[in-house]
Formats: sequence, C-alpha cells, structure tokens
Amino acid sequence: MRVLLVEDNEPIGRDISAALTASGYVVEWVREGEDAWFKGGTENYAAAVLDLGLPGLDGLSVLKRWRQEARDLPVLILTARGTWSERVEGIDAGADDYLPKPFQMEELLARLRAITRRAAGQSSALMQVGDLALDTRQMRVSLNGTQLNLSPQEYRLVSYFIHHAGRVIPQMELTEHLYAQDYERESNSIEVLVGRVRRKLGGDLIETRRGFGYTLKMPERTP
Ligand code: CA
Repeated sequence: MRVLLVEDNEPIGRDISAALTASGYVVEWVREGEDAWFKGGTENYAAAVLDLGLPGLDGLSVLKRWRQEARDLPVLILTARGTWSERVEGIDAGADDYLPKPFQMEELLARLRAITRRAAGQSSALMQVGDLALDTRQMRVSLNGTQLNLSPQEYRLVSYFIHHAGRVIPQMELTEHLYAQDYERESNSIEVLVGRVRRKLGGDLIETRRGFGYTLKMPERTP
C-alpha cells in the first residue's frame, strides 16, 4: 500500500520512511505543506502520515483543504507533545487518529494499520474475506487456516486485494501501490505477480475483468 509521508524533519522523516518500507509500504515522502496538499489531492494513497508543524502551509491547513475537496484518505497526524488543542483541532478537521511526538515507531505502525483497516470496514488486526485471512501485524496470509508462503511483493498484493475486496481494481492502481519506482513498473510485472499469487491461492479467488482490472471475489455469504 502506498503511503504519503509529510514530515519536514529529516531524521524523523528518514526513520519513519525506513520503518514503513520495512513494513511493506510504498512510501512517498514530501517535506512541505503545498507539496503534500497537491500530492494528497491528486494521487491515490492508502493513508497519509501528516506532521502538523510544516514550513509554509501547515499540516492542519493541508488536512482541512483535503477534506474540503472531499479527499477521504485516512490521515494520521503527528503533533507536538503537550499541545492538546492542536490534537483537538486536528481531529475536528478530519484526522482519523493522532500521535504525539516523540513516539515509538511500533505505535505509529499500529495506528496506521488501524486507520487503513477501518477505511476498509474492518476493525480487527485479523482481516477476513471468505476463506482468506490477513494478519496485518504478522504480515501473514492464510487460506482455510493454512499459512501461505508469500514473497513480500506477493504479500503486498494480497493485502491490497483484501483491503479492497469486491472492488474492481485497475492494473494501474496496483502498480502505483506496489512499486515505489518507475523502473520497477514493467508493464507486465503486475500480470506476472497476479499469476503467481493466483496459483498460490488456488481456485478462482482473483477474477480478471478484461479491460477493467482485477477483483478479489467476496464470499457468497459472509458468516
Ligand atoms: Ca515539523
């Protein structure tokens, strides 16, 4: 999943970026409010981690603009310690959660997982679609209780499908969320990846909608 990181502090930004990458996210890091507003308003992200203290346009204004423009991406704001009024303002402006600085990276990751899950309509760390289960903490996928042996890239793909189960996902969207760099975006690499994952999942869980994209089939009846 692709995450927008907005942080002007280099060391903190580097730490967060590294932790997100290690957790399987594709990270786009911007350092200024104007850039953040533009990126978040025009591109597709699973979530944003937004520092409020930014040069130029501050984080709160960025958030307000996104919400005014009906951009509903989940947003985790980073606030300075002890500024409770900032947190209240942030939540009122449409933040999904907040984290006061300094924080433990584990907590940031947990909160990010929670807001992306909630956006997908699931509240447990274990997400379930039919016989497929995704453990977002352990980064594992199981099918009928049997754990699947997936590469990091395959895991990201399955995770994205589970977060968007039942929706037709254009190939371009998968490419954006799975690959950080343009050079990784070989035109047929998504097809190859989907083919590999499909074999590991077995059956016909992932459907190809020719000309539209792919969809992870929802079970006939959710138990
Ligand atoms: Ca800052």
